[in-house]
This record gives sequence, structure tokens and C-alpha cells, in this order.
Amino acid sequence: MTFHCKNYDISADRCKKLSGECVPARKGCVLEGRMVVSEELAERIRRINEATARRSLKQDVGQQ
Ligand code: SF4
Repeated sequence: MTFHCKNYDISADRCKKLSGECVPARKGCVLEGRMVVSEELAERIRRINEATARRSLKQDVGQQ
């Protein structure tokens, strides 16, 4: 099976929707909750979500 996402910028190898790495089914991805992911991909998504949460927390603290 192949899949082409309209949000994928092939020249930059990035997701235009999320302004970051294309990792299918990650939070905010059009495939989020719509596919079963491998344990390896689930771990990768978990690490991305943690990094995103840390960045968000830093921005919140910086704005106070
Ligand atoms: S992360 Fe999801 S929405 Fe973004 S380019 Fe990849 S498949 Fe598309």
C-alpha cells in the first residue's frame, strides 16, 4: 500500500501542516487515530509529543 499526503513537502522532506518531521499518525497528523502503528512508530511518536510538550512549556514559562 502506498500513501501520498498533500501536506508532505517532498523537496524539504517535512510536513507543511505541522511544520516539522513527517511521522504518520503523530499528534496533529491527518492520520492521527486512523491507523494502527507499530511499536517502533508509537515510541517515535511518544518522543516527538514529549519534545513538543517541553517546547510548549518553555514558551509558556518564557511569556510569564
Ligand atoms: S505528518 Fe501526517 S499530515 Fe504531515 S505530511 Fe506526514 S502524513 Fe501528512
